[in-house]
Amino acid sequence: MVTPIVTLTNGVEIPQVGLGVFLMTDEEETVWALKHALKVGYRHFDTAAVYGNEAVLGQTLKDAGIAREELFLTSKVWNDMQGYEKTKQAFLESLEKLQTDYLDLYLIHWHGPYVKDTWRAMEELYQAGKVKAIGVSNFSINHLEAMKEYATIMPMVNQVETHPYFPQDELRAYLEKENIRHESWGPLSQGKSDLLLHPLLAEIGEKYGKTPAQIVLRWHIDRGSIVIPKSVNPGRIHENFELFDFKLNDEDLAAIAKINLETRYGRDPENTGFEW
Ligand code: NAD
Repeated sequence: MVTPIVTLTNGVEIPQVGLGVFLMTDEEETVWALKHALKVGYRHFDTAAVYGNEAVLGQTLKDAGIAREELFLTSKVWNDMQGYEKTKQAFLESLEKLQTDYLDLYLIHWHGPYVKDTWRAMEELYQAGKVKAIGVSNFSINHLEAMKEYATIMPMVNQVETHPYFPQDELRAYLEKENIRHESWGPLSQGKSDLLLHPLLAEIGEKYGKTPAQIVLRWHIDRGSIVIPKSVNPGRIHENFELFDFKLNDEDLAAIAKINLETRYGRDPENTGFEW
């Protein structure tokens, strides 16, 4: 099974569905989940320095013997490594752990006070060919507007919390206008809400012979977003990739738009509460 592709502004192609590996901390379970994902066909993996599993991911991918160019690897610079020198150091550490000499996508994990220097380092890594694309995560419209003042390259991706209870309509319209691709984290609302029990999703799912989770993931795809659901459960890993033999129609999309609660379950990018 091959996923649809989203093309970034610089022509880099990203598989629209990847595996998120947040909270995969048990080594044995992680290796098992990753091997299963590779077997199912996942080639895009979304990690971060702070997840503490880059090394396990790197080793498992190496052991699987899949050509590097067939993989799409994203990592992120954590808050404590922001700043010009530290970001470059963090990038090298991620490369080493992932056992690779380049990343496909490198993101600033959260906006913070060192963002200008962090971004300058990211631009240099990009210009040196060490990363195929650079972007941000958890950036608001304000953050992106401010970037116009100091960036020489605008981010190619913004990865933000998005699901039917928090569809990010305003931010998505802005990203589209600015040619920045939208990537959804927490696409199933991280198991923190009753989203997957919503009767509408069961009803639509019945029509297509799909589960509520598959309807939600297809909703992300049909809106053109990149999506990175996480699971360590083989059945769900498989389920979350069985998305390419159906499509939601306008009526389905309009009905799902109505269940919006404007509720996020993660931190607010404008008021993260992080201490820097
Ligand atoms: P998610 O919305 O993908 O939810 C994951 C949880 O949903 C799983 O633990 C499981 O309990 C459940 N689940 C998965 N598949 C299911 C299925 N088919 N049916 C029923 N339940 C299912 O949440 P997430 O892991 O937080 O987000 C996905 C990825 O996004 C992460 O792994 C990570 O890579 C990334 N992420 C990024 C940030 C950021 O700040 N940039 C923050 C959080 C997550």
